[in-house]
Amino acid sequence: HNHIDHATPEKVEAAIAAKDFHAHLPDYQTLAAYEADGGYAELKALRENGDWEEVQDKVLNAGLRGLGGAGFPSGKKWGFVRANPGPRYVAVNGDEGEPGTFKDRFHLEREPHVFLEGMLIAGWAIEAERCYIYMRDEYPAVLEILRREIAALEAAGLAEPGYIEVRRGAGAYICGEESAMIESIEGKRGIPRHRPPFVAQVGLFGQPTLVHNVETLYWVGKICREGPQVFADTEHNGRKGLRNYSVSGRVNKPGVHLLPAGSTITDVIAAAGGMLDGHTFKAYQPGGPSSGLLPASMADIPLDFDVLQDHDTFIGSAAVVVLSDKDSAKDAALNMLRFFEDESCGQCTPCRVGCEKAVKLMSADHWDKPLLEELCQAMGDASICGLGQAAPNPIRLVMRHFPDEI
Ligand code: SF4
Repeated sequence: HNHIDHATPEKVEAAIAAKDFHAHLPDYQTLAAYEADGGYAELKALRENGDWEEVQDKVLNAGLRGLGGAGFPSGKKWGFVRANPGPRYVAVNGDEGEPGTFKDRFHLEREPHVFLEGMLIAGWAIEAERCYIYMRDEYPAVLEILRREIAALEAAGLAEPGYIEVRRGAGAYICGEESAMIESIEGKRGIPRHRPPFVAQVGLFGQPTLVHNVETLYWVGKICREGPQVFADTEHNGRKGLRNYSVSGRVNKPGVHLLPAGSTITDVIAAAGGMLDGHTFKAYQPGGPSSGLLPASMADIPLDFDVLQDHDTFIGSAAVVVLSDKDSAKDAALNMLRFFEDESCGQCTPCRVGCEKAVKLMSADHWDKPLLEELCQAMGDASICGLGQAAPNPIRLVMRHFPDEI
């Protein structure tokens, strides 16, 4: 949102003259520019004479946790994957289908090599056979940047030809779920797998697989080059580390805002230039539609892993949407359930039928609370994956915090 280098008529003309049909490519840091800045020196040094456990310690000491939604300590995953015999794979989740999330795109359109070096270091650490990047097709500029820069890495001898493979997603939200993503990379319909076994043991093509989100690997790249302190030294409200919040809604400066992990919604709104004129802060989605809605009266909670669990929600991928007095919490929750109804993969009944029933019940003028409660319980208890398990969150939180609207 904030810094994209929009195409001007002159740039478009020049692009057409050069037969470059990706005229909207932003000005990103190329391989040459990244290397001139010391990029890939760390990867080369590690490949020559590195100890993977030292790198793992760096990542653990930084306190880096998965930034795709689940928040699992990143360094620990490396150990789990390595504990299983190879061949092993890295699978990168670049599906970013959570409404309101655009942080991965933000990084890839600016500093793709910070992410690529992080991925190659993780691949080196688990002795991966190959790295697969699952990238959503709705990001054509990112796909073109990856195509160009992976070719540049191969030409520079930094990656064996074929070591990095890009697979394009086809717009299914569920393919951001790690096991559904793996199914999709394998060329099958993207539906979540039952666990156990976990993907660290039986993942891509039945082999041990390290799954990381794009932003997680971006931070691995930064931490390896600059040390754990680049991530860990920030402390706010008793929380350590940094978060990229994707902020949208009724704020003056929607976009990606890098803030301390312990930031509250008050801090996030301030970083996003405050509320729009004529709008009074009413409610917020803390981390994607699965996290539901919290009221403005809960504006002093650090938006971080664990803390939000006490309030029956979570930070997920830190997709913050700010609502004002001009918005209806009831309508917002209905919109979220419509999204889940569309995106349910249909594999299990509690989610497939439950989302549809919820939309019907929520479309009424007055919500049938006992029936919705019962439905939420069944969906949460009996759905196979996180989509169906978390879909009740918007319903429950609106019933709890906005009883007047329903
Ligand atoms: Fe598919 Fe929903 Fe079941 Fe997940 S919970 S497996 S999305 S039907």
